[in-house]
Amino acid sequence: MACIVFMIGFGQKDYTTKREHMVKTQLKVRGIKDAATLMAMQTVPRHLFVPESMKPYAYKDRPLPIGDGQTISQPYIVAFMTEALQLKKTDKVLEIGTGSGYQAAILAKIIDSVYTIEIVKNLAFKAKDRLQELGYTNVNVKWGDGYHGWPAKAPFDAIIVTAGADSIPQPLIDQLKIGGRMIIPVGPHNYVSHLVLVTKKKNKITKKKLIPVRFVPFTRDKELGGGK
Ligand code: SAH
Repeated sequence: MACIVFMIGFGQKDYTTKREHMVKTQLKVRGIKDAATLMAMQTVPRHLFVPESMKPYAYKDRPLPIGDGQTISQPYIVAFMTEALQLKKTDKVLEIGTGSGYQAAILAKIIDSVYTIEIVKNLAFKAKDRLQELGYTNVNVKWGDGYHGWPAKAPFDAIIVTAGADSIPQPLIDQLKIGGRMIIPVGPHNYVSHLVLVTKKKNKITKKKLIPVRFVPFTRDKELGGGK
């Protein structure tokens, strides 16, 4: 018995060490400075958001497959997008593209309420169960087409889109508060996108092109109210 307890304890310590290494060698050296973002990346157990076979690679400097043809983003990209949103604890944030639920969990460590939408039914329900089991009570998961945002919960202080879009969906701009920020990968289908930081001011929208990225595509589903 003592031996089993020791092994479980050791396993967790091992993952904590891997996370520390990830934060130091993948995030800090590339300029991630926001204390809340670094704390969340250090705390959230990324290995519990990937399939069993991917666990050994959970803290590597790369995206990983999560099933249903989708991926969990590289840790640096998760941190970069989170930092770019300049979050305050009281912010209400919408994520489009729940995937594994990892990015939502990172947000949940920093802010009070997270709303996240996933278009693939299986992923949406799996992420919902996982986040519940891990105790992220401030994350609300919905299965649906994120193109439409979540009007009943709008407006949002920040919106994060984790699938590559060919343009910025107007409903998402509409659902941002004045002073709100949105980060979204934008680019031609199957080509390199750029992360774009959108800021909504009283009378105008500003867009700032940040780093080049590759994301799985933002898709639409007619049955879920998709199609234009
Ligand atoms: N944020 C995720 C990774 C996202 S991968 C994580 O931390 O694991 C991108 C996800 O966006 C995929 O799961 C894909 O199914 C989803 N997606 C693509 N188009 C969408 C849309 N229109 N609405 C909601 N989700 C969408």
